[in-house]
Amino acid sequence: MTILILGSGGREHTFAWKLVQSPLCQKLFVAPGNSGTAEIAENIDLNVTDFEAIKNLVLEKQIDMVVVGPEDPLVLGIHDYFLKDPELKHVAVIGPQKAAAQLEGSKEFAKEFLFRHNIPTAAYQSFDASSLEAGYDFLETLNPPYVLKADGLAAGKGVLILNDLAEAKAELKSMLVDAKFGEASSKVVVEEFLDGIELSCFVLTDGKHYQILPTAKDYKRIGEGDSGLNTGGMGAVSPVPFATESFLNKIEERVVKPTVAGLQRDGLDYKGFIFIGIIKVGDDPKVIEYNVRMGDPETEVVLPRLKNDLVEIFQAIANQKLDKIKIEIDERAATTVMLVSGGYPEAYEKGKEITGLLNLTDVIPFHAGAILKDGKVVTSGGRVMAITAFGNTYQEAIKKSYQNIEKLHFDKMYYRKDIGFDL
Ligand code: ATP
Repeated sequence: MTILILGSGGREHTFAWKLVQSPLCQKLFVAPGNSGTAEIAENIDLNVTDFEAIKNLVLEKQIDMVVVGPEDPLVLGIHDYFLKDPELKHVAVIGPQKAAAQLEGSKEFAKEFLFRHNIPTAAYQSFDASSLEAGYDFLETLNPPYVLKADGLAAGKGVLILNDLAEAKAELKSMLVDAKFGEASSKVVVEEFLDGIELSCFVLTDGKHYQILPTAKDYKRIGEGDSGLNTGGMGAVSPVPFATESFLNKIEERVVKPTVAGLQRDGLDYKGFIFIGIIKVGDDPKVIEYNVRMGDPETEVVLPRLKNDLVEIFQAIANQKLDKIKIEIDERAATTVMLVSGGYPEAYEKGKEITGLLNLTDVIPFHAGAILKDGKVVTSGGRVMAITAFGNTYQEAIKKSYQNIEKLHFDKMYYRKDIGFDL
């Protein structure tokens, strides 16, 4: 079959790397793709939210399946767009429909869903500009730190955690009244702070059945010891050592099952990945957030551990036969370390040549913000490349990632040197 992946990050390179291993994948396109996907598939330059351009591409290249990497096209309703168009209806789209994508697109929607289906999560209330005073009152009932979340998509920047009540009130006002995050903060969820360790749980669903993929832990901050600004993710480890079997059972019983059942009960059609951000409070899981797609860089450690044919899995999702699939996981640990442009997540330079790629041994370099220019691989974004390795233990894997990173170079290359060290 002919498959199209939408997106251009390390996540999409990993999808491409996995899909081309399938004998069922005859032709693969990635739009817009990067230098990594250019090596194994055909890149097509288009904007992932330009549905008309995507339609034209799908018809021209006779594409049978579209795998949606990032959240924006899902939240804007790409799956519904395909279903409504007689010329596109037959195409399998991997990703939820618009209504279900609100689980990521609106934090208030997600909290209401969690409470409606009795899924453990932090207590909360939501506010808009007209209820600012009530927001102040609610903050006063909470203990610090205070958690404020812009309701809409804010590129991972819309969550503020503040220690001081006066500051929390000022930020709430700035979000609601001064549109600190634009339209995304016209509503704000104010939430109880949960103290614990975080992990990410990945679920596949066809709307009726589900399968659970390996857990992962990502490292969000730019600096070692989890310091400094938030990023898209600086590295990841899978499996997560503190996710014991009994804890995973709790996640399945208390979170995964009621989530999939809740989607059905609410009539929310969902064919794709559910990424559940979990915090372990004591010995109990609580949901921090839903994302309606895979995470990046978690994909770079989760998919390499999946032994199944990914096209078969996607076909089973499209045909609602996911119960027929037996997920097989590589027992080894996988780690990934993200190389970023100096200055990221603030201003950084682009167009720097990346050298040393041919010297890598026993690791998989997943390209992210990197493109081909005049036959050279050059940087084109903040997060440039994720270096994934396997090991019998995650310590062994991470050592391999770091040994190979020393062979790579680009001007002002930066990476965290402590991925997995806290585990
Ligand atoms: P991202 O895009 O980075 O996944 P997001 O903007 O969608 O994040 P959340 O995942 O809801 O927002 O929150 C971001 C981070 O803030 C979480 O990963 C977690 O570390 C922290 N956080 C969120 N809610 C809470 C809470 N109730 N208690 C403690 N920490 C929290």
